[in-house]
Amino acid sequence: MSTPPIASFGRDYLAIPGPSVMPEAVLQAMHRAAPNIYAGELIDIAASLAPDLKRVARTDGHVAMYVGNGHAAWEAALANTIAPGDKVLVPATGRFAHGWGDMAEGLGAEVEILDFGKRTPMDMDRIAETLRADTGHKIKAVLAVHVDTSTSIRNDISALRGVLDAVDHPALLMADCIASLGCDVFEMDAWGVDVMVAGCQKGLMVPPGMAFVFFNDKADAVRTAMPRVSRYWDWSPRANPQEFYMYWCGTAPTHHLYGLRTALDIIHGEGIEAVWKRHALLARAIWAACETWSDGGPLELNVADPNNRSCAVTALRLASPNGTALRDWVEHNIGLTLGIGLGMAPPGDPAWHGFFRLGHMGHVNGHMIMGMLGGIETGFSALGISRGQGALDAAAKVIASG
Ligand SMILES: *Cc1c(COP(=O)(O)O)cnc(C)c1O
Repeated sequence: MSTPPIASFGRDYLAIPGPSVMPEAVLQAMHRAAPNIYAGELIDIAASLAPDLKRVARTDGHVAMYVGNGHAAWEAALANTIAPGDKVLVPATGRFAHGWGDMAEGLGAEVEILDFGKRTPMDMDRIAETLRADTGHKIKAVLAVHVDTSTSIRNDISALRGVLDAVDHPALLMADCIASLGCDVFEMDAWGVDVMVAGCQKGLMVPPGMAFVFFNDKADAVRTAMPRVSRYWDWSPRANPQEFYMYWCGTAPTHHLYGLRTALDIIHGEGIEAVWKRHALLARAIWAACETWSDGGPLELNVADPNNRSCAVTALRLASPNGTALRDWVEHNIGLTLGIGLGMAPPGDPAWHGFFRLGHMGHVNGHMIMGMLGGIETGFSALGISRGQGALDAAAKVIASG
């Protein structure tokens, strides 16, 4: 066994796009013996979560909670609204849109994909064209990923609502905010989103294991008109529980409730608008560094226009020495773990190594982002990767003037 590198000891930093860094207070809140699920404070904690989740989502609608990950939220949203044979439209800007479409196909839906590639957001004109051509209103829902974590493209969900309204199409607007909730600005009601799905392990800063489906009355009417809805996925009892077990259709994810309660207190203590501003500032610092590095080296931001970039995750291209070499070096030598490229090249294709991602969602502040960027600079140095000089300066200026 070789000796671990000198600078590898200390607190590791996981900078992948989910699961995210968790606050100590969340971890401490979860560290306890098994609580009673039939009486006591857990009952009150559960009831307190829905209003505070809705404040994060900016909705006066409803929320159903599930034991599950983001894929569970996808399936839950579909199980309540899409019957076998129903058609859904999936505007895709990355791997996660295809993933949601796959879930719909698995449930017997007819899936039409509009693929906009991996570097630019949805083209609203093409979506309008497709919806306008659907004169019989066969399309029952548009499944739109707000931030596609694989490409770090952020789509304009409000503009998508504008398109549906402009062509007078009744399809439900469903948004995947699994990466963006609690990071990028999102306004469920103001943007006219009918169904929104989220998980707890990204902007909400809790270990993976809870999923959420937010829905409005229009979506609930679609649910009521369904020929049948799976008992487990049915959002009605979960959103209007008469008994405690109905929230989760069985045993509650006990420790997650404590963790989420604490995370929501932290989020609302800071204020959701301040949370958005912090993510935007830190993202601008990251982009400033990456743009400086790009100017004189092979590193490239996947999304060229800052208006189309997420504030939660940044996808980067680095061909040679590649993203994998950089990730390996910083993880092994200085305790920094960066995200793998996802969906940018087929698995097994050597080109896959030319991509990596930075997670900057949730419990992150200025010194952590500077540490991450400094770590990357160190990796570049160690691997002899050519790059523009002054990236850390550029990032520091952004944060300093924030
Ligand atoms: C993480 C993520 C998912 C999948 O969530 P899992 O918890 O891995 O099932 C889906 N969509 C987006 C946009 C994500 O970021």
